[in-house]
Amino acid sequence: SSVFQLPAELYKTTDQFLKEATADQFHDENILIKGARPFEFERVTNLLSEKIHGTVLEINLDALNDNLNYYRSKLQDGVKLMVMVKASAYGSGSHEIASLLQHNRVDYLAVAYPDEGVELRKHGIHMPMMVMNVAPESYHNILKYDLEPEVYGLGQLRSLIKFLEDENTQLPIHLKLDTGMHRLGFEDKDLKELIALLKTTPSMEIVSIYSHLAGADEETHNAFSKSQFVAFTEMAQVLERSLNIRPIKHILNSAGMIRFPEYQLDMVRLGIGLYGFEATRQEQGQLRPISTLKTVISQMREVKKGETIGYGRNGMAKRDSKIATVAIGYADGFSRAFGNGKISLLVNGKAAPVIGNVCMDMTMLDVTGINVREGDEVIVFGEHPTIMELAGAIGTIPYEILTNISSRVTRVFYSG
Ligand SMILES: *Cc1c(COP(=O)(O)O)cnc(C)c1O
Repeated sequence: SSVFQLPAELYKTTDQFLKEATADQFHDENILIKGARPFEFERVTNLLSEKIHGTVLEINLDALNDNLNYYRSKLQDGVKLMVMVKASAYGSGSHEIASLLQHNRVDYLAVAYPDEGVELRKHGIHMPMMVMNVAPESYHNILKYDLEPEVYGLGQLRSLIKFLEDENTQLPIHLKLDTGMHRLGFEDKDLKELIALLKTTPSMEIVSIYSHLAGADEETHNAFSKSQFVAFTEMAQVLERSLNIRPIKHILNSAGMIRFPEYQLDMVRLGIGLYGFEATRQEQGQLRPISTLKTVISQMREVKKGETIGYGRNGMAKRDSKIATVAIGYADGFSRAFGNGKISLLVNGKAAPVIGNVCMDMTMLDVTGINVREGDEVIVFGEHPTIMELAGAIGTIPYEILTNISSRVTRVFYSG
């Protein structure tokens, strides 16, 4: 139809598409699948998932949107929302997620490193963007791509001032204060010199001042969180008075938004909550999981009792067994720590434990007693097992499971 400005191929029905689509139609592409329930587009997702590569991460953009709205409903009037899209939006994509956030008019985006910001700019993300860790070799890109650096230390500040004065230009910056996290940031003792430096240069506009809570998710750290908040507001006040500025002030992450509504200040920084994890676990039920990691069975075999499976011969068949080799390994972000029964994946609705060591590109599952065939789908995480269960099994946190999923794994976005 004429609404398509881009080259388009049209199909009358989902069935027609499924019949006529071929494997070599798609290469290195991000695919958005969108349509009402009756069209059963999940059949298209399934088909493409198999055709692209055995392993795909499916991202539900509607779920992401619902999570965004949930956190938005927590904001007091006038409080701005910055969304953390570092590490490819916690592994969920990058410009695809940023586009959705841009469309939904959040106030700010934040990334960890300049390259992440550059990539978003190249994909048409034009909203204000903070970059947290900026080294001198990236100053040129910061200017070129209209990025706003976090400034966290006197050495960095001096080199940035020199660069900007040499370039004869101005830059919006965000001042980071260390109130107890002890990662990046100016300390109390730095303030005098910080103020002196900022007073002598016209090259910087302080858009915001912020700090980060070290234990916002846990009640045991409540007193410490409070002391961080108090220290932050005091330090910020000194800066505001001395420099006669009124920047945006912010200290809360996702967990803080749930537990400390009284610390919202002018802006909050939403991260993991958007991606479906309520870090305090008090309101997990209010969020929707956004991602499902799927792979496929590459080969089936039968082994006799006593035979071993995989490298190091660590997996031993305790009885005559059916083994499925699946197309995901530690190079895809499926940690080697999941080996030797640490976790079971879901095959045709049944739990199949990992047997033996996880390989770089493949993993073997014990599927004895499960009705399976080569090519069948395997759920690595989703409704079951959950990312939480995977994280728990190897002593890590959902953040790490999500961000480990390598770029080799195709992301498929859908609404549903
Ligand atoms: C990553 C990050 C956040 C978001 O934290 P979540 O726990 O994911 O909500 C907020 N602030 C800073 C400075 C961060 O680095």
